[in-house]
Amino acid sequence: MPTIFTHAALPLAAGLGLGKRVISHRLLVAGIVASMLPDFDVIGFGLGVEYGSQFGHRGFTHSLFFAFVIALAGTCAYRTLQSTATWTFLFLFVSMASHGVLDSFTNGGQGIAFLWPFTSERFFSPFRVIEVSPIGLSRFLSPRGVAVLESEAVWVWLPCIVFCALIWAYRRRQANPVTDSP
Ligand SMILES: [Zn+2]
Repeated sequence: MPTIFTHAALPLAAGLGLGKRVISHRLLVAGIVASMLPDFDVIGFGLGVEYGSQFGHRGFTHSLFFAFVIALAGTCAYRTLQSTATWTFLFLFVSMASHGVLDSFTNGGQGIAFLWPFTSERFFSPFRVIEVSPIGLSRFLSPRGVAVLESEAVWVWLPCIVFCALIWAYRRRQANPVTDSP
C-alpha cells in the first residue's frame, strides 16, 4: 500500500477542488475515512488470515463492490453530511475505490481483488510505479521509508495537487466567464 495518509490525497484534492458547497467539510472527512478504510483488513494478519485469501489484505475490502456498499450506506446519512444524496454517494464511492486503484500502482505485495465477489482474482495496474510502503512503524522509519515518501510525493501528491488546481480553475471560470466584449 501507499502510506495510509497518502490515500487521503485524492478525496482531499477532489473535495477542495469542488469546494465546500458541493463537498461539505463533513463529507470531506467522511471521504478521507472511506479512502483509508480498506486497510483495516490488516487486522487479519494478527488473526491468522492468509494474505492471498479473499478476506486477507487487499482482498474484499479493496473491491469495487465493497466501496459501492459502504458508499450506499453512507448515503443514508447525506443530510448529516450536509450534501446531496448523489454527491455523497459519488464522493464516498470514488474515495474508497481510489484506495485499491492506488494500491494497484505499488511495486510490492499482492494484487487487488477489485472484482470480488465475482472473482477473487488479484489485479495490478500495468504501471507499478509507487514504492510499496512497509507495514509497521519501525520499518517505515528507515531509508526505505523515505524512498516511499518520495515516490508518493511524485506519483500521488503532485498529480493530486494539479488535479485540485484544475478543478478549482474550471469552477472559477464557470462562475466568472470571461466575456470578449470590449
Ligand atoms: Zn490497501
